[in-house]
Amino acid sequence: MPELPEVETTRRGLAPLVAGRRIDAMLVYDPRLRWSVPSTLAGRVAGRRIDALDRRSKYLLFRLGNDTLLVHLGMTGSLRAFTTAPPRRPHDHVDIVLDSGVTLRYHDPRRFGAILWLPHPAAAHPLLAKLGPEPFDAACDSAYLWQATRSRTAAIKLVLMDNHVVVGVGNIYANESLFRAGIRPTTPANRVSKPRLARLVAEVRATLTDALAKGGSTLRDFVDSRGEPGYFQLDYFVYGRQGLPCRVCGALIRQIRQGGRATSYCPRCQR
Ligand SMILES: [Zn+2]
Repeated sequence: MPELPEVETTRRGLAPLVAGRRIDAMLVYDPRLRWSVPSTLAGRVAGRRIDALDRRSKYLLFRLGNDTLLVHLGMTGSLRAFTTAPPRRPHDHVDIVLDSGVTLRYHDPRRFGAILWLPHPAAAHPLLAKLGPEPFDAACDSAYLWQATRSRTAAIKLVLMDNHVVVGVGNIYANESLFRAGIRPTTPANRVSKPRLARLVAEVRATLTDALAKGGSTLRDFVDSRGEPGYFQLDYFVYGRQGLPCRVCGALIRQIRQGGRATSYCPRCQR
C-alpha cells in the first residue's frame, strides 16, 4: 500500500509537469474505483488550468482555481506521466491529457483508489475535514500529542495510526518510529510521558525523512516509466523482522496483532 512517503514522492515527481498546465481531456476508461469516478468529472475538468499539485495525508490534490481534483492511490494505485502515451495496459483506468502533450495515467489493479471532484472549499469535504495535522507541521509537536492522547487509553501504536490524531503514519512507519523511540507499541497512549512523546514525534519525522530520501532517487521513474510503484525499502529495525535478532540488542523481535495489523517490536529496547 502506498504510504505517505510514496504519495509525497509521486507529488514531487508530477508537480513540475502539471503546474500551470491546462487539462485538455480526461479519459475515463473504467470508472469503477473505490467510489465510482463521477460521470460528470471529465466535462468539469476539461479546459481547466492546474495551479498546483498539493498533498493532504495520502490524498493528491490538483488545485483548479477554487476547485480540487482529488486522487487517492488506494492499495495498488499509481499515477505516472508519459510524454507520449503508450498503449493502454490492463488496469489503466483513467488518463488526464495536458496541453503540453503529457498524459497522466492512473493504474490500479485492485481499484481501491479514488478520483473525485471536490468543490470549493475542498478542506470541508468529509474526506479531508477531520484529518489531524501532518507529521511535519510545526503544530504537530509534543504538546499537541500530549493533549491529543490524555484521554486515549488505546495502545499508542493505534493512536499514532489514527488519522484524526496525525495523518500519514501507516503501519510500517508506526512500527519503526516506536522502535526508534524505545516505546512498547501496546503502551496505553495516555501513559506515554511528554518527553517520550517528544522523542516519538522526532522519530516519526526521522523515519519518514529516511523514506522520502529513498523516494528522491526514484523521482525520474515517474516520467515515461512503466515500472510499478515499489515500497521504499528501508533497513527496517522491526517491521517484517519477527524472530530475527534486534539490530541494537540482539533480542528476538516479537510480533503481535493490533487492530488487525502486524506489530513487531523488541521486548528489550521498547518499554
Ligand atoms: Zn532490541
